[in-house]
This record gives sequence, structure tokens and C-alpha cells, in this order.
Amino acid sequence: MNYQDDIPLARRIKSIKTITTKSFLRMGLLFLGLGISVTFLANKSFLSQRKSLDDSSNSIETRQNKSLLGHLPYKEASKKDLILFSPGIYVHKDIYEKFKEMQFMAAQRGVSLQLLSGYRSINLQRDIFYENKSIRNQTAVERSRDSAPPGYSEHSTGYAIDVGDGNYPDTHFEVEFEQTPAFKWMKRFASKYHFVLSFPPNNKQGVTYEPWHWRFEGTVNALREFDAANKIIKFK
Ligand SMILES: [Zn+2]
Repeated sequence: MNYQDDIPLARRIKSIKTITTKSFLRMGLLFLGLGISVTFLANKSFLSQRKSLDDSSNSIETRQNKSLLGHLPYKEASKKDLILFSPGIYVHKDIYEKFKEMQFMAAQRGVSLQLLSGYRSINLQRDIFYENKSIRNQTAVERSRDSAPPGYSEHSTGYAIDVGDGNYPDTHFEVEFEQTPAFKWMKRFASKYHFVLSFPPNNKQGVTYEPWHWRFEGTVNALREFDAANKIIKFK
């Protein structure tokens, strides 16, 4: 004989009811708890998302606030990310193939793109900035219009390059470079290879026009490096 059969039917029903009510209550509480946790977690991730957005805009602002004489701070590329392009010239490994490809395509049209410089260590930038400053008898403010202070050069990222026309070496690092076939070709096609002119005429950073100086924005990391520069409204 089943044990439950000993209990009168009414009580049996009651106890089943009680169990059901209790378990419903329990389940309800469980769902409520789950609901609260999910809401909390969602909120938390939303908040952390908001926070990271704030952080990124902060870091752009911070970098812009840390600008020096129109130049933004840049970190030195790590050695493992650099690759030798030609004797004495290192570039970030992400731009190596792209520049080669661009050089090859230009050569098809008889245009000679010559890589004049790429990565520069902060120490080398220090020499370039201060030695030329002394030679030219310039103040730091005057010098900063032509060159970035150490720690503030796009070249230290490995993503910036100076380009010359191999057939017109006299125009290397001169504004006259803009009249060469190399510059004209780059102006038309460089964006296909993700290179952009960093300091066009009347640029927002107030840096002297440098038709030879291009930066690479073809990876997320590179873009991130130049995010602050791309978001400058006006420095001067
Ligand atoms: Zn340059």
C-alpha cells in the first residue's frame, strides 16, 4: 500500500498545493534574482562601455592637452615591430609591403618613389631637433614649426615616412618636392595604400607644410596612434 494513500485526499491536495505554491514562490524569487543580476551585469557592462568610451576620448583629449608647440606626443615603436627597408632605414612592419607595392605601382608609370626616412628613435629626434636648432640659431618655437621635439615625432611610431623623388634628389625635404612626378603620383594614389599627408598646407597643428612627410593609417593600431591628430580642431 502506498504511504500517501493513508493521508486523506483533502490534506494530500493541500500539501501538493503548498508544495506548488512554495516552489512557484521559490522559482519566482530565483527569476527575480536572475533578473536583477542580469540587469546589474548589463548595466555594469554598459557603464564600463561608457567608461571606456570616456577613457578613449579622455586619452585623445589628454594627448591633445599634452601637445607641445603643435606636436602631439608619440611613443617609440617596439623593436620587434620594426623591419629594415633599405640601408639604415627601418619602418613599422605593417607598412613594409604597402610601401613596396606603392613603389612598384608608381614605377610602372616611370615614377620613382624613394624612401628617405622612416622610424626615428626619440634620441635621434633629439639630435635632429637640438643640433639643427643650434646650427640654424633658432628658438625652440621657431624650430618646432619645421621639426617635432623629441617624443613628439610621428617618425618614432614607425608609421611615418619621408618620401622623395629618385629622379629629383635636389627636391628632397624641400617644398619643391610638390612639383615632382613622385609627389603628384602620391597625391593621387597614396590613399589607396593608406598613406596620408600629415602636414598639408595650413594644417590644424600649425606645422610647416611638408609635402614629403606621409603617415600610414592602414591598420587599427596605426589609426589609433593618429586618432588624436585626426581629431584636432585647431591648435593655432
Ligand atoms: Zn618626416
